[in-house]
Amino acid sequence: MSNKRIIGFDADDTLWENEVFFYRAQMKFIELHPQMKDPEEEILQIEKENIKFYGYGIKGFILSLLEASVRFSNNQPDFQNIAKIIKIGKDMLAQPIQVLPKVKDTLGHLSERYELIMITKGDLLDQQRKVEKSGLLKYFSSIEIVSEKDEQTYLEILKKNNISPKDFLMVGNSLKSDVLPVTKIGGTGIYIPHKFTWKHEEVNGTFDLERIVELKTISDLKLWLKKLI
Ligand SMILES: [Mg+2]
Repeated sequence: MSNKRIIGFDADDTLWENEVFFYRAQMKFIELHPQMKDPEEEILQIEKENIKFYGYGIKGFILSLLEASVRFSNNQPDFQNIAKIIKIGKDMLAQPIQVLPKVKDTLGHLSERYELIMITKGDLLDQQRKVEKSGLLKYFSSIEIVSEKDEQTYLEILKKNNISPKDFLMVGNSLKSDVLPVTKIGGTGIYIPHKFTWKHEEVNGTFDLERIVELKTISDLKLWLKKLI
């Protein structure tokens, strides 16, 4: 076995808190729109329709909330609500980064032994802001900010870095984006669930469990990798 193992890390909800801020913003939105019957489902539908236009991230989310506000206003948009939604978005974009527990220790330990790459999807400007503010940049040999995390994206990243899929491990909280596409190209997916996961990232069906490892916390990685050698 080659000892040049490369470890990819998802960022949102793997290295720092993210989804919880969307959840809180959505709760504020729902309070402003008591007329909506099933707001969570209605917002999710609009977001899904809009991914192809806006991609992932806060700006697209806020545009979807504005659209929902207008769509469910019975043709009488409430401009105070519109102003409040814009404020919710700006507050999200200024939110300090909350690095998850044990992330710094784990990355410090692993970066001395492996090459680490951060692979995150979302809005370029906001992801760059979070990477810089997180203080985690020093642990990574490269940062990839992509618009979608599918098999093609991973293959391109591996090719660019001259990595064989069998030497690649990808760590993340999303089965759909971090784990399954990596297992499909012959890599190993390490799934570390986070209690807040966006519904769009949930998957149904069966998986090739041989290539998926589930760990409780990021600090379990050290032990798991030790056993592997
Ligand atoms: Mg994530």
